[in-house]
Parts: sequence; structure tokens; C-alpha cells
Amino acid sequence: MRAIGIVSGGLDSLLATRLVVKLGFDVLALHFNVGFEPHRDSSHRGTEVASAPKSILQMGAKCESVDIRKEFAEVLAQPKHGYGANLNPCIDCKILMLSRAKKKMEELSAAFVFSGEVLGQRPMSQRMQAMQLIAKESGLEDCLVRPLCGGLLPPTAPEKAGIIRQDQLERIQGRSRTAQMALAEKLGVFDYPTPTGGCLLTDPSFSARAANLLERRPDRVLRIDDPLLLQVGRHVILPQGGKAVIGRKEEENNVIESFNPLGPILEAKDVPGPSTLVEGSPTPKDLDAAARLTAR
Ligand code: SF4
Repeated sequence: MRAIGIVSGGLDSLLATRLVVKLGFDVLALHFNVGFEPHRDSSHRGTEVASAPKSILQMGAKCESVDIRKEFAEVLAQPKHGYGANLNPCIDCKILMLSRAKKKMEELSAAFVFSGEVLGQRPMSQRMQAMQLIAKESGLEDCLVRPLCGGLLPPTAPEKAGIIRQDQLERIQGRSRTAQMALAEKLGVFDYPTPTGGCLLTDPSFSARAANLLERRPDRVLRIDDPLLLQVGRHVILPQGGKAVIGRKEEENNVIESFNPLGPILEAKDVPGPSTLVEGSPTPKDLDAAARLTAR
């Protein structure tokens, strides 16, 4: 019998996958690319999908990467359920991912969809009420199993049908990772990433830059390449409202230069220095200010 998982590659999703594999299901894990994983290299421009985490394959599951950057950009512009502490629209993002997982479940006649969510771990999307809302709005209703905390939640359809038993699901809750680390040891999962380094939208300074850019983009919709540009250089608002992105080292200059069609690129003549992108069609005054910053 098949089960579909949504996975980030972090410890919780690895454990959830391992548990479902151990229960005897043929697991297909979906790894979604929303476009906000950290990259600092221009080789990522235009990349369609982030590669599926190898660690998921080591759990005994198959894994597919799914590119949802375009749909996510629309969600980010105006999330129905708002943002978290930063510019992270986690509830709408989860609904988007799970809706796609539901389609896959139907396509493959899988028994259920699962995720590695832990009750009470995140203030926005992992409160009981939010978890129920996410299940409902993704259309999964009670076909969404949370193996790490399902022992604390109302029984889902697969439990009611006897496909899985509630006592086979864990009862983990809260923000501490102690229980997950103990479970990892029990399940023989030793190679897992640290909790940092995931989605850039949970980072306050990145979010501040992204929020500024959202305001400047028509319809508040970011372009596919915007997350990469937001990770490099010093971003300066110019006197007449234009924006300059100034490289701080060679690898940032390379990324900035690859954005050439977005606006003029300035470089100091005959001496080493930064590359500066002046976005759009700057006014002469803004262009002059950007040139001065580049020279300085
Ligand atoms: S942290 Fe980022 S990728 Fe994860 S659910 Fe929130 S918005 Fe989506």
C-alpha cells in the first residue's frame, strides 16, 4: 500500500518518513521547491527544482522534487492566512504543498498523505487549530497523518479504517528536539541536518529585504530570480526611490552581473571594485548616487 509524504529533508520529516516506511508502506516523498532555500551562486539562476534530499532515500522511500515557485510567489504576495513572525506564509504554504500531495495521492491511489509536523512546535502553523485548518483547506481532511504527533490528535481515516493504529504513531509535542533525537537514535537515523539553514523567509533580515522588494514589484509578485538577488550585496534605496544592489565580494559581483537585463550595471573604471545593479530605469539623480556609491 502506498503513502505520500511531504518532506523538507529536516529531522522531523526524516523521522516521519522512516516511521511510515517501517509500518510497511511504499512511500513516495515529495520535496517542494518554493524558491527560498539558501543559494549564493549564480549557477542556481533558472534552476527548475532543488534536488531531492538524499537523506530521504536513505530512509527507504522514493523521492520526487516538485517545483512550486510560481504558485508560491502568488501565495507570498497575499497569503490568506497571513505571515508568521517574518515574511513566512507558513499556513498557506503548507496548504499549497498538501494540495499538490493530495493530487498525487489520488493519482497513485495511495492510502494517505503524511507530514513531519509536531504539535506546538511552531507558533503559526503547528498549533492544533492551524493543523486542523491546514488539513481541511488542502482538501485532505482526515487523510492527513502526522506520524510524530498523531497519538495526540483525533483519529484520521486510515486509523478508523484499521490501516494504521493510533498507538503506532508518536506523541511528540512542543519546541524541544529531545524527543526527536531519542526517536532518531531508536530508528537508527544518525545523519540529519541542524535545524538552521532552511527557508530564508524565516530569517528577519532577509524578510525585511524581501518585504521591501514585494512593495516595489507590480502586484507584489516576486520573480523566480528575486530570492537569489536578495541574498547578495548591500541593498540601498536611492534618493529618488530607485534601488541599488552593490556587490561586496567577487562571487556577489558575479551574481549581480548575471542580472544585467534588470537594469544598468555600474563598475569603477580601471580599478577593482564592486558591481552595482541599479534596478529598472533609474532617474539621472539615482544613477548618479549609485555611481558615487560604487566609486566609494
Ligand atoms: S518555513 Fe518557508 S517553506 Fe516552510 S512552510 Fe513556512 S514558508 Fe513554507
